[in-house]
Amino acid sequence: MNAPVERPRRSAVPADVLARIRQVVGDKGCIDSPAEIEPFCIAWRDNWHGSVPLVVRPSSTAEVAEVVRICAEAGVPIVPQGGNTGVTGGSQPHEDGSEIILSTGRMNKVREIDLLNETMTVEAGCVLAEIQNQADAVDRLFPLSLGAEGSCQIGGNLSTNAGGVQVLRYGNTRNLVLGVEVVLADGSVWNGLRGLRKDNTGYDLKQLFIGSEGTLGIVTAAVLRLLPKPSDTVTAFAAVPDPQAAVKLLARARSAVGEQVTSFELIERICIDLDLAHIPDVVDPLGATYEWYVLAEIAGQGAPGTLREPVEDWLGAAAEEGLVLDATIAASAGQAAQLWKVRESVSEAQLHCGASIKHDVSVPVSRIPEFIATVNAALAARYPGIKGVTFGHIGDGNIHFNPVRPDDWADADFYGERENVNRVVHDIVAEIGGSISAEHGLGRLRRDEARLYKPKIEMDLMARIKRALDPDNILNPGKVI
Ligand SMILES: Cc1cc2nc3c(=O)[nH]c(=O)nc-3n(C[C@H](O)[C@H](O)[C@H](O)COP(=O)(O)OP(=O)(O)OC[C@H]3O[C@@H](n4cnc5c(N)ncnc54)[C@H](O)[C@@H]3O)c2cc1C
Repeated sequence: MNAPVERPRRSAVPADVLARIRQVVGDKGCIDSPAEIEPFCIAWRDNWHGSVPLVVRPSSTAEVAEVVRICAEAGVPIVPQGGNTGVTGGSQPHEDGSEIILSTGRMNKVREIDLLNETMTVEAGCVLAEIQNQADAVDRLFPLSLGAEGSCQIGGNLSTNAGGVQVLRYGNTRNLVLGVEVVLADGSVWNGLRGLRKDNTGYDLKQLFIGSEGTLGIVTAAVLRLLPKPSDTVTAFAAVPDPQAAVKLLARARSAVGEQVTSFELIERICIDLDLAHIPDVVDPLGATYEWYVLAEIAGQGAPGTLREPVEDWLGAAAEEGLVLDATIAASAGQAAQLWKVRESVSEAQLHCGASIKHDVSVPVSRIPEFIATVNAALAARYPGIKGVTFGHIGDGNIHFNPVRPDDWADADFYGERENVNRVVHDIVAEIGGSISAEHGLGRLRRDEARLYKPKIEMDLMARIKRALDPDNILNPGKVI
């Protein structure tokens, strides 16, 4: 196994560096009181808790470039941070106080909307939900959508190549970006803000930065694709006998309404029970309880109401085939939101349910049932009483598999088994030809495991790219690679 790229320094950030940064960004751009720094240093799931002497909040690309130049000269590592909703520790500093956080929150302008080119140029600190709203206001759709959309920022979305609930139809973030502006590790600025759908003039450099989790450059702005806004949307919640039926139901949906299948989410019953126990205002969608459910959204451009009939036909035919046990179709936008709340609340509900070990894996869609059956059997044999909590974007082959400790185990004992549980789960994923990180990235959480599962030549190529773009390893060291 090849070694990780080493972190460069472990001493405190020199006072003169902090002073020079303050001169660039002013008092407004500096947070240095420990109480105010604290929230930037804690991860969403509270599983990483770092320390920095300064959170710098530049207000422009020029300020970012100047801050990076100062840090590069002094060899001070920088942790880029957007909304800090990442779940793999990528936006968290290390514990030794040797780094600074660069937060993009003040860079939140929409620079341009070009309706004829169907693009929007935004700064990195724009909150995803705000971008969705701005697109909606000009009668367009920006389709990236995920549970953290009220807090996560587009710079973070690009840097993690975020997925979410509409990848099935629109692709992940990578597919939604036409251009980027990036500050490189030496403080130089690459303005690649081109709104081109075709540009074959060599390597597609923007793709290097998308998904690189802040290790190759700091994204300061992006040109995003806008899409036609659907005029008719149907949201359905169906109980299915098992994951195999869910996969078949997706295939039937594609045959019935084609590309209009926008979201297709799998939810195990235990997820709804956790929601009902821990999240206010969640409603159990169907009268009876079942073991497995699917939440589907179908969206098209026809007159409002036209999609309901084909969706009813699809569900009716699937019920006759035994693929659907029960189903409801939302009668209003409010009811659709209620159904989505069931799905979107699962991550938060899991914060309250005792120790659980999280996995964000992908396998070919056709092999999801095999993955779920195999992994549950393997873990039950080793840890009797373990509860497999399964949900996720089944249409993308992306399963969040977050088993919870047996009732008679202490949290600490179960977390002590984390490495062993990961090995069981990820070995099965690898055997099925899957990935150990479908959409959350590697960060600190999966950095070392990636070296177990990715081919050595891929890790070598990544290390060569990192060395070429950040030879002194000052951009988010210790993450990804
Ligand atoms: C409730 C909940 C639901 C979620 N659902 C999904 C989901 O469905 N799909 C999904 O993919 N993710 C999901 N996530 C994970 C997370 O929201 C995404 O990874 C999101 O894209 C992170 O954006 P952020 O602005 O919070 O980034 P941060 O957490 O601040 O940073 C994430 C990474 O990007 C780097 N980074 C941030 N900004 C920049 C920048 N401007 N330039 C360079 N590097 C940068 C950071 O250093 C870090 O490595 C969910 C998280 C939560 C809490």
